[in-house]
Amino acid sequence: MKCPACDHPLSTRHLNGVALDVCDGGCGGLWLDAFELGRLDEAHEADDEQLLRHHINPEVAPSQERRRACPRCPSIKLRRHFFSAQREVEVDSCPQCGGLWLDHGELHKIRAEKIASSKSPEKGAESLAELIRQRRLNQTGDQTAP
Ligand SMILES: [Zn+2]
Ligand SMILES: [Zn+2]
Repeated sequence: MKCPACDHPLSTRHLNGVALDVCDGGCGGLWLDAFELGRLDEAHEADDEQLLRHHINPEVAPSQERRRACPRCPSIKLRRHFFSAQREVEVDSCPQCGGLWLDHGELHKIRAEKIASSKSPEKGAESLAELIRQRRLNQTGDQTAP
């Protein structure tokens, strides 16, 4: 497979049991098949990026303007869109196979965004409210019990 951003051949890396296609020696981007991102997200965070970081050719600058083709589906162009509702990280994904292209550093941003949202005070309040609701339900259950 060729890198959609800089045409360098992608090489396969195994991280936490997930096979990734990395632009090793090129722009340092990362191709994830549809189901791989979820598996990687749960995994052991920073080490992965450390490993990938060493293999970037600083002279290769991936162009954001160029229309990128899916490395798996030759006739399909990737679509650029925000990764999540927070709208902080833009990624390229393939509408056909569901694969995801991340430029170097984007995986890190996605993780940072995820961590930030899971630690937000709103989320905490939500789960507390949920807890209270469940307790009420239990109490109601007690009252109606024979
Ligand atoms: Zn590349
Ligand atoms: Zn595809």
